[in-house]
Amino acid sequence: MKLIRYGETGKERPGVILKDGTRRDVSSFVKDFDESFFEDDGIKRLNDWLKTNSEKLPVVNNSIRLGPPVCKPSKIICVGLNYAKHAAESNAALPSEPIIFFKAPSALSGPNDDIIIPKNSKKTDWEVELAVIIGKRALYVDESEALNYVAGYALHNDISEREFQLERSGQWVKGKSADSFAPIGPFLATKDEILDPHNLNLWLKLNGKTMQSSNTSDLIFNVPVLVSYISQFMSLVPGDIISTGTPSGVGLGLKPNRYLVPGDIVELGIDGLGTAVQKVRTWESK
Ligand code: ZN
Repeated sequence: MKLIRYGETGKERPGVILKDGTRRDVSSFVKDFDESFFEDDGIKRLNDWLKTNSEKLPVVNNSIRLGPPVCKPSKIICVGLNYAKHAAESNAALPSEPIIFFKAPSALSGPNDDIIIPKNSKKTDWEVELAVIIGKRALYVDESEALNYVAGYALHNDISEREFQLERSGQWVKGKSADSFAPIGPFLATKDEILDPHNLNLWLKLNGKTMQSSNTSDLIFNVPVLVSYISQFMSLVPGDIISTGTPSGVGLGLKPNRYLVPGDIVELGIDGLGTAVQKVRTWESK
């Protein structure tokens, strides 16, 4: 099943993409894809309900904006340097344990929303990533059980301001949390749709030119390891997002460095998780 949220920013409604490719509204079944939806076995209940109701549901026009496919997760946890070549291009040693950091949930945006270069930014960069969405409360989970806590997967661009992240002292969170820095989607693919999350091609193009092209088989720490590992330090809550890290080919790794400028077009995708297109613009006061 493919879950979407559609409509204006902050007023999104829940929907699904049916097997025939049509988008349908499911707000008569559930108010939103939030913590209580996932916690309450919502994916299974929605799937059962669709078997008899899908044909009757209102069609959502393809021109309507998509929002992030999860409503207000309690947290976004990102994994740093989780592809060997990306660690090398960042001049960083291979981590012996997963590096984790937070991204503010207020950074979430729709898959095709503009990337907004924040005020005083000179080094806004791209990072295509496989995102994992948690389906069940997880604490001290074993690796062998970890996938039972996953609701599904989505495409994520972990937008990063490198000066804020690396040159302004302290934690990476400063460079990861500006508004629009977490475009997610087009949809959340439930776990059953992705037979092997560790064999997915992922790619990113800048103005039509391929910058990143890799496969999740190159992850240093895979999905069960990450879910188990993070759950040793904090409760993972339904709807929480874990972004698993980016492969090589980011602007920071290029010689000379190449950062986003207004008018750039970023396009990205992952096998089975769709594609997204984001236009770059600068922040403006309202
Ligand atoms: Zn990242």
